[in-house]
Amino acid sequence: MAVMPAIIPPPLLQLPPNPRTLLLEKCKSLRDLRQIHAHLIKTGSFLHHSTFENILECSALLLPNSMDYALKLFDQNPQPHTEAFNIMIRAFILSRFPTNAVLLFLRMLASSIKPDKHTFSCILKACSRLNSVEIGKQVHAYAVKCGLACEDFVLNSLIHMYASCGDVFDARKLFDKITERGIVTWNAMFAGYFKVESWQEVVTLFHDMLALGAEFDEVTLISVLTACGRLGVLDLGQWIDVYVHENGLQSNQNLATSLVDMYAKCGQVEKARNLFNEMASRDVVAWSAMISGYSQWSQCREALKLFHDMQISGVEPNEVTMVSVLSSCAVLGALETGKWVHSYLRRKQLKMTVNLGTALVDFYAKCGFIADALETFTKMPQKNAWSWTVIIQGLASNGRGEEALKFFSFMLEADFQPNELTFMAVLSACSHAGLVDEGKRFFHSMGSIYGVEPSIEHYGIMVDMLGRSGLVQEAYDFVIEMPVKPNAVIWRTLLASCKIHKNVEIGEESLKQVVKLEPKQSGDYILLSNIYASVGRFEDAVRLRNQMKEKGIRKTPGCSSVEVDGVMHEFFAEDSAHPLWKEIYEKVDEMMMRIKEAGYVCDVAEARLDAEEEEKELSVSHHSEKLAIALGLLRSTPGAVLRVWKNLRVCRDCHVATKLISKVYGREIVVRDRNRFHHFKDGFCSCNDYW
Ligand code: ZN
Ligand code: ZN
Repeated sequence: MAVMPAIIPPPLLQLPPNPRTLLLEKCKSLRDLRQIHAHLIKTGSFLHHSTFENILECSALLLPNSMDYALKLFDQNPQPHTEAFNIMIRAFILSRFPTNAVLLFLRMLASSIKPDKHTFSCILKACSRLNSVEIGKQVHAYAVKCGLACEDFVLNSLIHMYASCGDVFDARKLFDKITERGIVTWNAMFAGYFKVESWQEVVTLFHDMLALGAEFDEVTLISVLTACGRLGVLDLGQWIDVYVHENGLQSNQNLATSLVDMYAKCGQVEKARNLFNEMASRDVVAWSAMISGYSQWSQCREALKLFHDMQISGVEPNEVTMVSVLSSCAVLGALETGKWVHSYLRRKQLKMTVNLGTALVDFYAKCGFIADALETFTKMPQKNAWSWTVIIQGLASNGRGEEALKFFSFMLEADFQPNELTFMAVLSACSHAGLVDEGKRFFHSMGSIYGVEPSIEHYGIMVDMLGRSGLVQEAYDFVIEMPVKPNAVIWRTLLASCKIHKNVEIGEESLKQVVKLEPKQSGDYILLSNIYASVGRFEDAVRLRNQMKEKGIRKTPGCSSVEVDGVMHEFFAEDSAHPLWKEIYEKVDEMMMRIKEAGYVCDVAEARLDAEEEEKELSVSHHSEKLAIALGLLRSTPGAVLRVWKNLRVCRDCHVATKLISKVYGREIVVRDRNRFHHFKDGFCSCNDYW
């Protein structure tokens, strides 16, 4: 290679034929540009082909804030060439005015200036920015007419345009035509599938890529990892993990975040956390991936703990973080944290998206704050079918079945299509409110009017509805005639209604069927044994409990928690592990005495079967929810709402007792049991004793 002579910058007055280098060197500001412009006009070389393009490029692309000047320059040229048009089109795209780029392209065609491959590449980019496949298709047709559509350069831009507009079908047709696909082409195709969430196509395309031995990069891997997470394809995700580590790519933050996300979504939360911990720095996407991983796999306490760490680290949460945090709060009933999220959204004036609004409504409804749920729902600027379903479900499970049905009719009026989940909410509203006829009508109209075929869950709610309202025989017949094979849940539901209505015969049959399907569930045996006890057949009850022991089926211990000053306290029945246990038991004694004065009679049928007769009442008074309520009364500020969480269903006695406690102590008590919320106030419960 010949050694280039040192370039001695010529004086301004003697411009070389190609003054680009000089312009780049000399022109540091708009002022310099003006001087050069004036000089060019004076010397008569302004309209010289390449000189003009150089000064235009300098103004439009290289100097900041000089686009207006570039436009002036451009308008001063009566006959700009293709290159000049290209510069301006590029400048419009870079400065985010894709519409102007398209308009300029039309002006170019109108003045019969021939576009070249660069023009097409730029203008297709403008179509992507505008997300307009219609304009894109016209540009494509014009490129064919100009004989440029087969140039790889233009083809790549076409694929990118179609893919980024979500037209993966047309993108793929062109993609398959290219014989020499560069990494850019592949990634454009991946981006297209990514955009329309065709995750399976992403994985298949990556396998094709590997089979062909084509080169890939970080961008490719991020698309594929996302797809693996969505599809739960762990093995390919792990393969990429190994590849990343073997090639020392783990310091790429986006790639590391995608790995965390993939493992979290595939249920390998532990592994995700290890990678998360190893990351040198974590942005909001990484934090959100980990938090939503925990929340998705029901590790809600971990999710909130990590959210706390995130706040300490000073990273600002985004929508994804907030939705995961709210759903964890809803599961745990972590009211304070959830409320904090709401006030944070208000303070930061973050946009109330559909997802965020729906998560908030769900959170309030699940925590028993139906008024706040309704207010949030009403204020949501946009709603979708899911938002409506959540509010209907929320009303139903807070004992406001009739209102839930009213909202269902509003939903239909607002032209939202109800889905499977909506009907589950509607039917459970009917079930909880005892609206059997309405329930039957909705059940029959689901498939015929709304095209939603009832699933086993819908049948289950129907069984529950009939059983609760005392139609145990009809419920049994319904189960026998179901077109789908009844599962354990259905039989268990029937068993539970047999307990409420003391139906021994159907109860025995139901347990027989449940045990065939799921032999090891303690709750089922206990239900039947309680049925025996409730009709005075104590020997049968004890026999059944002994059978349980012989089969090695252990009872799930009842456990209740209460939140005091933001800390959760956990209790088991007759538990003395709490540091304040003495005071708690004294409080329980006081509580029981005061509600007795208000008419409480202990329901000894809820006592441990092995409790001696005289111990029975005491044993019932030491159920975990009563201990939790006692601590709540002891330690919370007077008048504050008490919130209790119970892992099993609230027992009949505790339900009666809690109603009276709410009246005697003038406290609202919200109990969330395994099935629903109970909002106790002034001696009544929101479930209308229907749970
Ligand atoms: Zn109880
Ligand atoms: Zn209740």
